[in-house]
Amino acid sequence: MCKSDAFHDEIGDDHISTNDHTPLRADAFNMADDEKIALIKKDVESILTTLGMDLTDDSLKGTPNRVAKMFVKEIFGGLNPAKKPSASTFDNKYKYNEMLVEKNIVVYSTCEHHLLPIVGRAHVAYISNGKVVGLSKMNRIVDFYAKRPQVQERLTIQIVEELKRVLGTEDVACVIDAKHLCVNSRGIRDIESSTVTAEFGGAFKNEITRREFLDYIKLDTQF
Ligand SMILES: [Zn+2]
Repeated sequence: MCKSDAFHDEIGDDHISTNDHTPLRADAFNMADDEKIALIKKDVESILTTLGMDLTDDSLKGTPNRVAKMFVKEIFGGLNPAKKPSASTFDNKYKYNEMLVEKNIVVYSTCEHHLLPIVGRAHVAYISNGKVVGLSKMNRIVDFYAKRPQVQERLTIQIVEELKRVLGTEDVACVIDAKHLCVNSRGIRDIESSTVTAEFGGAFKNEITRREFLDYIKLDTQF
């Protein structure tokens, strides 16, 4: 292994991210989805063939195309800015100026260092300064940024930054608690561990407001 491979492996296993922006090239969307699927299909074929798999077997025949479509259209579909949820907001006609918390939003993402799943929950909060968003919009924003090769810290920040932009306020927070299958199923195989990341904007930097948000997350919702 060359020195730079060793260096990158180390960064990978420590899951360090140095940038809040997904490292996309400028030409990322010059190619149509169908062209990408055709190319990735060949790449997946190549990986499986190199591993010694017999791609003429009925069970494996459809795998390269299935994986290519899943990458482009589903699990990495959130790379495409055209798929970003629309930024529509409503006036806060109820004059509800307290904290609104949407908790236990399911997160399915993919670790960009190992291309293995990150599975967990996001808890998102904001305090309206006049605008509100539909509750499902918060889920859709989480899902959009999750559907990329990701780093959990970056995902947390991207969700907060997008909601700040949509709502026109700094008073936004997000906590994500997730399991990384690259940690849980391989490497040190720590099945129980999960990773918590948090980003607190504006009023949430205040100890009391932050505590209120974290207390709501702990509430056990019965219904
Ligand atoms: Zn990983």
